[in-house]
Amino acid sequence: MSATPSSHRSPEPGTRAEPGNIGLSEPNVSGREWEYVRECLDTGWVSSAGGFVDRFEGEFAARVGTRFAVAMASGTAALHIALLVSGVAADEEVVLPALTFIAPANTVRYVGAWPVFLDVEPNHWQLDPDRLADFLRFDCSARDGRLVNRRTGRRVRAVLPVDILGHPCDLDAIRDLAAHYDLLVIEDATESLGALYRGRPVGSESHVACFSFNGNKIITTGGGGMLVTNDEQVARRARYLATQAKDDPVEYVHRAIGYNYRLTNVQAAMGCAQIARLDEFVALKRATARRYAEGFADQPAITAYQEAAWATATFWLSTVLIDATGPHGGSRGLLRTLAAQGIQARPLWEPLHRSAAHHGADIRPCPVAEQVHREALSLPCSTGITLEQQDRVIAATRRALRTAG
Ligand SMILES: *Cc1c(COP(=O)(O)O)cnc(C)c1O
Repeated sequence: MSATPSSHRSPEPGTRAEPGNIGLSEPNVSGREWEYVRECLDTGWVSSAGGFVDRFEGEFAARVGTRFAVAMASGTAALHIALLVSGVAADEEVVLPALTFIAPANTVRYVGAWPVFLDVEPNHWQLDPDRLADFLRFDCSARDGRLVNRRTGRRVRAVLPVDILGHPCDLDAIRDLAAHYDLLVIEDATESLGALYRGRPVGSESHVACFSFNGNKIITTGGGGMLVTNDEQVARRARYLATQAKDDPVEYVHRAIGYNYRLTNVQAAMGCAQIARLDEFVALKRATARRYAEGFADQPAITAYQEAAWATATFWLSTVLIDATGPHGGSRGLLRTLAAQGIQARPLWEPLHRSAAHHGADIRPCPVAEQVHREALSLPCSTGITLEQQDRVIAATRRALRTAG
């Protein structure tokens, strides 16, 4: 891998920063990756079958505490298959938080269904169970045993909470509501592998949950994902759909439309090396977030991310809120000031109720998502970041808060 990816000043998160620069969240592949990948190359087991795929699935399921894990080519592929195996159909609706990376909402459209975006809660920025309760109680009604969104006339089928930034959503509250209204819970845990909800691993308790091993996630296989479930039928169906829906692999007989979504053995080999280091990576991410919180404790313009009493977060990203007023020019002013010094920071995603890509979805006001979007900034937090680099980020940020951006 080249250490100098291109002439870009600010590389994609999950790729390597130029020497001297501090990247946002870079891969850490200093474990047994080389040894395991070489084993694939030496034996010729490089494709979508092989010992590392089975081993990675087994170790992953054990780690998350589910009966089954099905390795996928990406987190997005896992989410697409999760919706298919859950039976979410065209013109049905799936409830999502407005503040998330766009992939889960896109996969709702892949199956012809529609997202409904609800606001997040102000403390941890996850799907707000109160907004969900209000939506289900006041904006939907039961017709012929189905829950229908009165505004669109579409059947509401599932809730898709997203555990953003390494912190779990309030899953019990969301699951209770889903159970009461007979909705499925499909959990996007792609950003929160290793986090705990009330002491239980994130992703262990939903009908289906999905993870990602993209380059900037807490563990990486270069690209990859995982679908986990406790339901054997769901796991079998997911594996079938992700492997071209082969009913007879010799005669090439297919009874369904399948996908080529499986993880390769080479990627799974990386996954085995990476997951062995998950606890270590979580500890490093948490330490970085704590160090920033301490470094900014006396700064009224900065609010550190708060972990819920019921959560053990991974702090996959070290995200803070920056007061919008002041000479530094708010989160975007600070972003530019840091970028000029080779420090990669990043805002959160455009709230999806405002996304042109999701024109046609049922849109409701999401003032909390909008405020977090204005003020949030993620700071460098690669697991390989040094104390000296953290000090540079803290000093540059403190300097920027005193001077005009
Ligand atoms: C990264 C991510 C995904 C998609 O994962 P890929 O492996 O990149 O396809 C989905 N949802 C969320 C919230 C993510 O952060």
